Amino acid sequence: MIATFPASKSEIVNRIYEAGVVGAGGAGFPTHIKADSRAEIVIANACECEPLIRSDRFVLEAFHEEVLEGLHLMMLATGSSKGLVALREGSSIPDLEKRLASSPALDIVRVPNTYPAGDEHILVYEATGRIIPQAGIPLDVGVVVSNVNTLLNVSRAVHGRPVTSRIVSVCGDIPKPCVTEVPIGTSVGFVLEATGNQVDLKEKAILLSGVMMGEICEDLTRTVDKRIGAIIVLPRSNRVVISKSLSVETMVRRAASVCCQCQLCTEICPRHLMGHAISPHKIMRAVAWMITSSEDLAGALLCSGCGLCGSYVCPMALSPDRISYMVRRMLAERGIRAEAVPSEVRPLRAWRLVPHERILNRTGVGIYERDLNFVPISPPGLVRIPLLQHSGVPASPKVAIGRHVSKGDLIGEPQGLGARVHASIDGIVKAIDDFVTIESK
Ligand code: SF4
Ligand code: SF4
Repeated sequence: MIATFPASKSEIVNRIYEAGVVGAGGAGFPTHIKADSRAEIVIANACECEPLIRSDRFVLEAFHEEVLEGLHLMMLATGSSKGLVALREGSSIPDLEKRLASSPALDIVRVPNTYPAGDEHILVYEATGRIIPQAGIPLDVGVVVSNVNTLLNVSRAVHGRPVTSRIVSVCGDIPKPCVTEVPIGTSVGFVLEATGNQVDLKEKAILLSGVMMGEICEDLTRTVDKRIGAIIVLPRSNRVVISKSLSVETMVRRAASVCCQCQLCTEICPRHLMGHAISPHKIMRAVAWMITSSEDLAGALLCSGCGLCGSYVCPMALSPDRISYMVRRMLAERGIRAEAVPSEVRPLRAWRLVPHERILNRTGVGIYERDLNFVPISPPGLVRIPLLQHSGVPASPKVAIGRHVSKGDLIGEPQGLGARVHASIDGIVKAIDDFVTIESK
């Protein structure tokens, strides 16, 4: 299927824009902007280093031809001569490997089975040896990184198919863990019920997108959007759930009273080990002592939110990851940005990598780790499609209440940085606010 679409750069970029493709790895950066750049290497990120999740693996197994076509199209658009499919060591996808054996411009690269292998800074270093400057992006070193789910959507986009669904892992402490595909705007509660996994929120907690980087979802009406790749259910007693459930005030109070400045959070921080000027123990000290002008706080701008410092290493069960995130938002609101500065990998890095197995054990989720089968579900009778499910500004609605729409129709257009939004089911537009609500006829 590769190269069946003889597209020019502008044609590829336009089709990706028209289809509303955004990064499926979490941030939702509009893919047409990445495609409109120049690079030497495109990496298909299939590292999927978060525990329990199997969405990327399913995409590669079920749609490897489309993913490779998406990779090829991104290479065409960016002028890249090399395409790499990045897998964690120990992963094997025989059909993909057989397919790549006959493609000289494409290769598989295996990166250490550690967390967070999928972080762009870590991935680019492990896959190519190139070091992205701190606060920089892969393009600074001639690389574009795209999640395999994104590349599937790129392939679909050039064939005229907009993004209307999301492949999601439904996993954790539930009877029927699986991978499924749901229309964008479907509620989390519907997905759980449709897959045979009713959840009582008094006993269990839901994490969206990841055990380590995900956030707690207390609302079953919350909708799945283009960025959400997993619905993970864990007992309320799980240590990650307890930590992520704490209020900001409690986190700060605890930081002030029990942070012993052992520095373990800094010693293990993947960005610190890449040579970036971030030291989470100093951020904790500055927040605890209310030192608002501290240079140490600026390190928070370099935090990836990987969660290692909080969910994995802190002996006092503190949350430097969440505190860093809070500080980062505060600085961003004041317009403070980090500047891209060349960095050098610290010599101790190789000894401080955290194996996947250790993450499973420490977070207490290893007992839920298993292969997941695909389970199709019927579409819901109602979807609430967010107008902001990407980096940038919300899309402006392009439909009116009462209008009939078909799956794939344009319903939102960005007025600045952003991505188009499309109807994910056939039906009537019932409401428009931050969401476009569509009810099937
Ligand atoms: S690991 Fe925990 S206790 Fe140690 S410095 Fe970091 S936040 Fe403080
Ligand atoms: S979450 Fe913690 S370990 Fe991860 S990058 Fe941020 S400070 Fe470092």
